[in-house]
Amino acid sequence: MKTKLAINCSTCRDLQYVVSNVKGKVQAKACKCFDCESCQGTGRILQEDADGISRIRECQCADFSKKLKIFNHAGIPGKFVHEGLDNYEVGTLRHRSLKDALTRSRTFIKEFIQMKGQYSQGLIFMGEPGLGKTHLAVSIIKELILKHGVECKFVDFFELLRDIRHGYGEDISEGEFINPYVGVKVLVVDELAKGRNTDWELTILDHFISTRYNDDDKVTLVTTNFKDKLDNGIGREDNKKAGLSSASTRYTLEEKIGPRIFSRLMEMCKKVHLQGKDFRQV
Ligand SMILES: [Zn+2]
Ligand SMILES: [Zn+2]
Repeated sequence: MKTKLAINCSTCRDLQYVVSNVKGKVQAKACKCFDCESCQGTGRILQEDADGISRIRECQCADFSKKLKIFNHAGIPGKFVHEGLDNYEVGTLRHRSLKDALTRSRTFIKEFIQMKGQYSQGLIFMGEPGLGKTHLAVSIIKELILKHGVECKFVDFFELLRDIRHGYGEDISEGEFINPYVGVKVLVVDELAKGRNTDWELTILDHFISTRYNDDDKVTLVTTNFKDKLDNGIGREDNKKAGLSSASTRYTLEEKIGPRIFSRLMEMCKKVHLQGKDFRQV
């Protein structure tokens, strides 16, 4: 690749791409310092063969363009534009489980890359809202895409269900909504078990999870406010009396999604528990 090596591009800190929030999704584009002389950054070269026929061939820099393309189709929410593993707060005031969660996120990436994608176990980040579960999951896929070119997507399950419900009215099939996600190599399922979890919603979730479960080269990263056990062995009645009324103190994840989906998830993902105070309230 022939690129002008910018030693000190202050715009992209020499990453050669810049990210921004475009209509609610994080988008990346080549930085102005990225300058492929062969293709002017398009990734394609128009070449005339011996018969005078013009053909398009990939430029050597196409790998970089592909990463940006995967990134721009990943559906990462715009509010995570600057989030990465390097700016996940784990200072001394934070609960040590957060430092552990960060380490495990880094280990996950390392092992995934070492095993060249044959690695099939994901992570399920469990804990109260505001601890940065989505921050970690998003940071993992950002790095997998931009450093390693792995196909990843993000889906807010609650929003997906809402879209499907709307889609029914518009004659768009359930499959059209779900298919882009079930087949992707690495998928972040955000906010699992949020909402009422009606029979209809659980049927869709079951299809979603089962398909990924049966395809054993797919990796799923999950975030959920619900835990596998209620905290401190305190029963739900005591939590109610203590005024802890959020659903996640009263129900376990298994109760929310049912034993079948739960047990599959537990096989597909290693548990990462996060504890502590809500970041956003500090
Ligand atoms: Zn730059
Ligand atoms: Zn090029």
